[in-house]
Amino acid sequence: MRERHRDDRSKSANKPQRLVSGETQGEDTPAPMTSGTATNLRPQRFDEYIGQTKLKRKLAVFVEAARGRGEPLDHTLLHGPPGLGKTTMAHILATELDVQIHVTSGPAIEHKGVLAGHLTSLGERDVLFIDEIHRLSPTVEESLYSAMEDGRIDLAVGEGSRARTINFDLAPFTLIGATTRTALLSGPLRDRFQIIEGIDFYTDDELSDIVARTSSLLGFTVTDTGAKEIGRRSRGTPRIANRLTRRVRDFAQVDGYREIDAKQASHALDELGIDREGLDQVDRRLLSMILQQFTGGPVGVDALAASLGEPRDTLESVYEPFLLQRGFLLRTHRGRMATSKAAKHLQIPLPKRGRKGSELQGRLPLDDA
Ligand code: ADP
Repeated sequence: MRERHRDDRSKSANKPQRLVSGETQGEDTPAPMTSGTATNLRPQRFDEYIGQTKLKRKLAVFVEAARGRGEPLDHTLLHGPPGLGKTTMAHILATELDVQIHVTSGPAIEHKGVLAGHLTSLGERDVLFIDEIHRLSPTVEESLYSAMEDGRIDLAVGEGSRARTINFDLAPFTLIGATTRTALLSGPLRDRFQIIEGIDFYTDDELSDIVARTSSLLGFTVTDTGAKEIGRRSRGTPRIANRLTRRVRDFAQVDGYREIDAKQASHALDELGIDREGLDQVDRRLLSMILQQFTGGPVGVDALAASLGEPRDTLESVYEPFLLQRGFLLRTHRGRMATSKAAKHLQIPLPKRGRKGSELQGRLPLDDA
């Protein structure tokens, strides 16, 4: 797999730099080592990609079948929270298909001409990867339909009386779209993907394997218990596991440790403000706000976003998924509620709920600690 070009991705622009954010903070770019060479932490092949066993098995079958027929892989949509390995999987698919990957993102495709530029430069069976595909503009999205379905794109050229439409026939290709927000994807676009797969949060054991792999690639030693400690505070997210591994290594180096064990890892992570459940101060603020200011909830997502001073989209796509998955937060039709697990973890007594709350309590599993 050869990567043709990479657009400037606006993903992390103007976002707060949060140590436990799943969004990229530049660490996916190979880091220069002392020798001047670079270490790329991205797994290159299916067998280096840790976890997601079922998904890998399925995709490996689809890749083998497409290769056997000499056809492109069907258009594929990968969805899941940031940092779980969607981009990595897109690169692996291209490598395993032995084709080139062309990388761009929804916001970078500003108009139809940019899309046409990408599509017309694709070689036979190449992959076009569009990250944050839910952020395509409606006109660009519409042009994508005919490219995906009929293998052609119409482009208006010239102005006024000289204006005409040129049809470009495209080489057969695979579109791989990645999104953190399937709900924001339009029905017609979603329907044009033949393969739609979600990437789930990783287990603590898988994350500890990722920490072990990363530390060995970066050239330092972490014990099994050290890897487990970093893994379980990584919010189910490989990108965070890699980030925390690097930061813990800094502490170990400055403190003069040759290897990182559980004690050293705990010490560093405590210093970094990441608690034993992988929550940082933003998570704790969010949960204690629901518990204290909104008597445990339900609180509408807009009110919560306003109180936190965060856009609703960031709240929903960045902060909430992990808290929901780990049972600290409940999403109900009336709003968000903190669970008894959250109250216990933060040592804040679960407020007595009013009538609204007790109705919900009757229907929802609140005692999930
Ligand atoms: P996404 O596109 O979902 O935001 P990425 O594919 O960019 O996430 O993954 C973030 C980082 O996490 C990658 O640079 C890679 O090093 C690491 N990573 C992701 N998935 C895995 C995995 N399954 N095994 C090992 N490392 C992984």
